[in-house]
Amino acid sequence: MSIHLEPRTMPAPPVERPAISAPPVADNLFDVAVHQFHIAADRLGLDDGMRGILSHCEAELTVSFPVEMDDGSVRMFQGHRVQHNRGPGPTKGGIRYHQDVTLSEVKALAMWMTWKCAVVGLPYGGAKGGVRVDPKGLSLNEVQNLTRRYTSEIMPMIGPNKDIPAPDVNTNAQTMAWIMDTYSMHVGYSVPGVVTGKPIALGGSAGRNEATGRGCVYVIEEACRTTGLNLAGARVVVQGFGNAGATAARLIDELGATVIGVSDSGGGTWNPAGLDLDRVSRHKGATGSVRGYAEGEDISNRELLELPCEILIPAAMEGQIDTDNAHRIQARIIAEAANGPTSPEADEILFDRGITVLPDILANAGGVTVSYFEWVQALQAFPWTESDVNDRLRKIMRDSYRAVQATASEHHVHLRTAAMLLSVRRVAEFTRLRGIYP
Ligand code: NAD
Repeated sequence: MSIHLEPRTMPAPPVERPAISAPPVADNLFDVAVHQFHIAADRLGLDDGMRGILSHCEAELTVSFPVEMDDGSVRMFQGHRVQHNRGPGPTKGGIRYHQDVTLSEVKALAMWMTWKCAVVGLPYGGAKGGVRVDPKGLSLNEVQNLTRRYTSEIMPMIGPNKDIPAPDVNTNAQTMAWIMDTYSMHVGYSVPGVVTGKPIALGGSAGRNEATGRGCVYVIEEACRTTGLNLAGARVVVQGFGNAGATAARLIDELGATVIGVSDSGGGTWNPAGLDLDRVSRHKGATGSVRGYAEGEDISNRELLELPCEILIPAAMEGQIDTDNAHRIQARIIAEAANGPTSPEADEILFDRGITVLPDILANAGGVTVSYFEWVQALQAFPWTESDVNDRLRKIMRDSYRAVQATASEHHVHLRTAAMLLSVRRVAEFTRLRGIYP
């Protein structure tokens, strides 16, 4: 499908394609995202005009701001908010607090949000935000001050009809409540719709907290049917025991699979006979990490990925599976609860080895889908029950998986390229329909 935008005065210069030589780390993650986009654009036959539009972020804001610490000292922080494509409605994307946040990473995550919303058919464009900080080193009061100041700094970009943040790494419902309150104090009235992933008492949705992990498990169930893998008894390894990973681990355990390994930023623990997840959670609550769990053996995050298992769920950070370890991964299915855990070269290695990779833009789309439900419930002023939310989530995840799977079979490509083909085609279509202003 070729989408042609007429040049006004001169032909558009050829669109630059980044070469991906280094492993995907936060500094070159946007190159990885653009690389993935061009693979889909080539197959769709997009012209240079459309490639130029979709391979750039529409708006990028970088802010440096002071925060007063509890001891009276002042520390400077840097943050970003990026909108990749304003799309068919407001832009949507989480806010991350992490010591490795870079502008390139936030741009990649914003672009992936555009494709993610499109692959599950939500009326949003993609955005993302991040602050370069390790919040573990801050008190709750300092995190609140940082959140409120960062919100003030990005005020020109966000709004309930404009750009709506949500939780991501190291942010949660409480963070969203502070953002909502800060925004509301600026405009002079309560604006719950400025964020999703809020506490239920402030208009949050039932099921939003678990939605990313739950959506991921719904997609895994579908993939097990396609690949003939029996989920009951399957061995599962989860990297990242936070919101997405711990929920996915608990739900897949409830379906009869055996979770044999989990990890967090402090390292991992594993037991080939299976882990008692409640006890692992209590150990993490008491010590700050799953590492050191008495009924498991400690293991590094790199080693964890190579454990013998049927299902591997990367649910931490990007850049985890690369040319170095893709040959040694033993899982039959990799479900990307995290964004960007697999490099483009590793994708090809895994595809050649017959390993099914459920790509991030599909496998972790449950979070933004229930964020959309939260937005719809607010517009209707009518809250849904948790089972309504989960039923609708299951249908969207199942239908989206089937559409991606059918595209992969038709074009003989892996599921990431198939998901990209579907979503880039949709985004190119509404971009063409909107045209170029003025
Ligand atoms: P979280 O902060 O709740 O949990 C992150 C977990 O990963 C923590 O256990 C942390 O210790 C661990 N971790 C961090 N660095 C690690 C490393 N280098 N190795 C191993 N573990 C590490 O964050 P989350 O919301 O669960 O997000 C996890 C991933 O899921 C991210 O890639 C995020 O973008 C993606 N995601 C989250 C949502 C959501 O709704 N929260 C939605 C879509 C995608």
